[in-house]
Amino acid sequence: TTHLVWLRNDLRITDNKALSAACSDPQAKVMAVFIATPAQWRQHNMAPRQAAFIHANLLQVQAALAARGIELICHQGDDFAGSVNWLVEFCQRQQVAALFYNRQYEINERQRDARLEQALAGQVSCHSFDDSLLLPPGSVQTGNGEMYKVYTPFRKAFLQRLTESDVSSLPAPRPRGEAVGFTAAAAFDYPLAEVGEAYPAGEEAALHRLRAFCREQVQDYAAQRDLPAIAGTSNLSPYLAIGVISPRQCVNRLRVECPDVLEDPQSGAFCWLNELIWREFYRHLMVAYPALCKHRPFITWTDKVCWQRNDAALLAWQQGNTGYPIVDAAMRQLNQTGWMHNRLRMIVASFLVKDLLIDWRAGEQYFMSQLLDGDLAANNGGWQWAASTGTDAAPYFRIFNPTTQGERFDPKGTFIRKWLPELADVPDNELHQPHRWAEKQQVLNYPPPIVQHQQARLETLAAFEAAKRGG
Ligand code: FAD
Repeated sequence: TTHLVWLRNDLRITDNKALSAACSDPQAKVMAVFIATPAQWRQHNMAPRQAAFIHANLLQVQAALAARGIELICHQGDDFAGSVNWLVEFCQRQQVAALFYNRQYEINERQRDARLEQALAGQVSCHSFDDSLLLPPGSVQTGNGEMYKVYTPFRKAFLQRLTESDVSSLPAPRPRGEAVGFTAAAAFDYPLAEVGEAYPAGEEAALHRLRAFCREQVQDYAAQRDLPAIAGTSNLSPYLAIGVISPRQCVNRLRVECPDVLEDPQSGAFCWLNELIWREFYRHLMVAYPALCKHRPFITWTDKVCWQRNDAALLAWQQGNTGYPIVDAAMRQLNQTGWMHNRLRMIVASFLVKDLLIDWRAGEQYFMSQLLDGDLAANNGGWQWAASTGTDAAPYFRIFNPTTQGERFDPKGTFIRKWLPELADVPDNELHQPHRWAEKQQVLNYPPPIVQHQQARLETLAAFEAAKRGG
C-alpha cells in the first residue's frame, strides 16, 4: 500500500506527527508532496521573504527524506482549490491508500482540507493530526466548555493540562530502504527575496538555536526580553511559523535545561514558556472564533471607530519616516530583516492605530507582507491587542507614548542608532526627540514628528468613545 504525507506548515522530519504516522507501517511505500500556492499566498499577503524561507527549508526536507528512501514531490499549483484537484488526481495515479497531514487552523485552510476529505471519501483514508500546537484547540476550556477570553486563566488551565499530557517529541523516521533521487523544488512563481544570513534554513539550524538559547540565554530572558538593543529572545519565530521546529521540541528542550521551569514563575524559563503559551492562546482563539480570520474585530463596537484614511501617514509609518525614532528604527528593522522585536511590534502597532488613527487592518496587512515569521493567529492577535479591539486587549484608553517608550526600552539609543544612522551624532539626552535638537540650528536629515502625540491621543480617545456610545 502507498501512504502519502502532505507537508504544509510542518517543514521538518523530526517530531512530525503526520510523517511518523505514515511511516509506522514498515511495509507501506511512503511518498510525500508539497504544493506551492502562489495565488493563495498573494491573497494572504505572504511576504516574499517567507516564501523564500519556505523554499530553502523545503530543499532541506527533500534531501533529508530522500536519504531515508522517501521521495518528496513539489508541485507548483495556484490556489487552494487547485491543490485539492491536483491531490485527488495524484492519489488516483499513485494508488494512494492513505493520506496523512497535520492540521492548519486558518479558515481557508480548513475549508480546503474538508473539501479534499470529501473528494477522497471512500477511496483514500485520511488521517489528520494536531501537530503545530502543544495542546489541541478546544482542549483548554472553561468549566462551561467555552474558550477562555482572558489570557491568565487560560494559561493556568493550560499549564494544568500540559502537566497531564504527553508532549514528548517523536524521532525522525528510520530509513526505508535505499536513498531515492528527487527533483529539487523549482523556484516559486512568487516575487524573489533574500532571507538573510541570520536565518539559515533547516531543522538542524533551528535546533541548534533552540539548544543554545535554552542553555545560555533563557535565564536572562525575563530581564532582557524587552530591550531591543540586546539579542535576548530566541529568534525562533520564523522557524516556528513554518514548522521547521515544533513547540513540543521547544518545551522539551526547555525542560532539559530548566527542569524546575514550572515551579518558578519569576524565572526566565517560565517567562519564555509563557510566550509559547501566548502562541497557543491565539491559535485556540482563532479556532473558537473563525471570524478572526475574516478581518473582524473581537470587540464588535470597535468596528464603528472612524478610522482616518491617510495614505501619506501610512506610507511614512511603513517606511520609518514618522519622526519618532523608536518607531522608525523598528520599521526599518522590519523592512530590512523581516523580523521585529516584540516590544517594538507593540510600539509601532500602537502608533499606527492610536497616534495616526489608521485602521489596524492596514498595519496587520503590512506586517504580513514583510514578516519572515508571518503567522495569521499571532499577527492578528498582536494587532487586535494593540488596537484594543481584541480579547483581553489593552484597554482603548491606555495609549503608549512613543517617546517615553523609546526612553524606557532603548535608554542609551543603541538600537535607534543602529537603524537610524542619520541620528548617530544626536546626543543621548536629545535622541528620543531629535527635532528639538534640530531646532537649535543643527542640520539633521530626519523628519519632524508627523503628528503631535498629546493631541493625537485626545482625538483617538474621542473616536473610541464615540464608537462605544454608538455601539
Ligand atoms: P521569543 O520571545 O523567543 O518567544 C518564543 C516564541 O513564542 C516565538 O518565536 C513565538 O513563536 C512565540 N511568541 C512570542 N511572543 C508571542 C506573542 N505575543 N504572541 C504569539 N506568539 C508569541 N509572532 C509571530 O510568530 N508571527 C507574527 O506574525 C507576529 N505578529 C505580531 C504582531 C504584533 C502587532 C505583535 C505585538 C506581536 C506579533 N507576534 C508575532 C508575536 C511576537 O512579537 C513574536 O513572536 C516574537 O517577537 C518573535 O521573536 P522570538 O522568536 O525571538 O520570540
